[in-house]
Amino acid sequence: MTAVQSSAEDRGGELTHTSRRPGGSGRPSVLAVYVPAVVLLHLALTAAGLWRTSFRLEDLLTFAALLACGGVCIEASRRLGMPAGVARDLLSAWWLPVALLLPPVFALLIPIPLQTWLQFRVRRTLLYRRVMVTSALGLAGACASVVFHSVVPEPLADGPGWVVQGYPGIPVAIACAALFTVLNTGIVAVAAHSAAPEARWRDVLWNRESLLLDVVELCVGVIVTITSAVAPALLLLALPPVVLLQRSLMHQQLQAAARTDAKTGLLNAAAWQREADAELSRAHRTDEALALLLIDIDYFKKVNDRHGHLVGDQVLIGVASTLCGQVRDYDVVGRFGGEEFVVLLPGADTVEACRIAERLRGRVRRLAVPAETGTVAVTVSVGVALLHTHGSDLIELLAAADLALYRAKESGRDRVCLPAMEAPRPTED
Ligand code: GH3
Ligand code: MG
Ligand code: MG
Repeated sequence: MTAVQSSAEDRGGELTHTSRRPGGSGRPSVLAVYVPAVVLLHLALTAAGLWRTSFRLEDLLTFAALLACGGVCIEASRRLGMPAGVARDLLSAWWLPVALLLPPVFALLIPIPLQTWLQFRVRRTLLYRRVMVTSALGLAGACASVVFHSVVPEPLADGPGWVVQGYPGIPVAIACAALFTVLNTGIVAVAAHSAAPEARWRDVLWNRESLLLDVVELCVGVIVTITSAVAPALLLLALPPVVLLQRSLMHQQLQAAARTDAKTGLLNAAAWQREADAELSRAHRTDEALALLLIDIDYFKKVNDRHGHLVGDQVLIGVASTLCGQVRDYDVVGRFGGEEFVVLLPGADTVEACRIAERLRGRVRRLAVPAETGTVAVTVSVGVALLHTHGSDLIELLAAADLALYRAKESGRDRVCLPAMEAPRPTED
């Protein structure tokens, strides 16, 4: 399946949705309590840390050097831009050494200037979300810092002793980096889940791609920590490769975002057409069958009118993931417009295409999206077009599928139609 999973899967992505729900605006949500609680805890611990810590010049200089490196990293990738939602970056390469090498108060402090920098220089996101992410980073960093300092009390003042000895300093540094990641993910995921309670925990916590990025961040963070423990001047050597990694990470995320429909994670119309064109050329070359399905949700406007746009969006997401889950790996699924989806089925003849279309229709019927007043169910109408029979290029196939869809709507909706045949009666699943 060529549908690209959305960057909304990035942890915290769901935080873009507010907790406002139709009819529920008067009720304080979990989010409205949780976010201020996390932020207040962060502020209180920072204030206590500032009060109780006796600052050493060496710590302040290391902090300033790591902060400057973070700033250089942000500036170096700023021109590329940053994808919407919560993009992944490599800034933990700088705040992990702060957490491990310096007293915990520095870990509470460092996300504040760097996140402010991101907010004003790179991408303005919802303020409460930026503040929440800052506090999560600060609290996770402080915990990692406390644990590491309980094993290596003076990581900087001892010189590189704990690095040269290796054990237990380095394994503990790795464990603390992992602790930092787990706590940060957990704190943000609770907020993301309370913003979208119907989302599965697994989806707001981790997916394979973000796990890989976590491992990369962890490795880079530990390497930079060791480097700066040996000699802070070596940061000058660490900076260029980290900047390069950060830039390529941003570039990759922007490329994925440009292909993807942010709401559903499916291919957007332009990317779908590019991929569909390539499949069509292959089908012409190999003389294979190919079918196209145009799928439109029935009476979707009523869903919005009755339950609000946020529930409408959840229905779109549900339909998109149902479609993705029901097709083969090499089928091409895209969101074509508002509540219209398109699926290209390489190798499918009329019988196969109608069978798949019926299966999709049946699965969507079973979908139950939670809403304030119970669950929302929808049906879809599907237009099917076949290569050679109804057209030889994408434009002809789309026009034929559109005609078939029109026939399905005209003959009562919740059914599958070909462009020129009697509409089959809907079958119960
Ligand atoms: P039909 O059965 O004839 O297809 O009726 P319909 O109500 O589904 O079709 P219509 O074209 O009248 O309405 C489509 C609605 O889809 C109107 C628009 O507000 C809504 N819509 C489009 N994009 C989105 C979106 O991203 N989110 C939400 N919630 N609604 C959307
Ligand atoms: Mg519709
Ligand atoms: Mg429509």
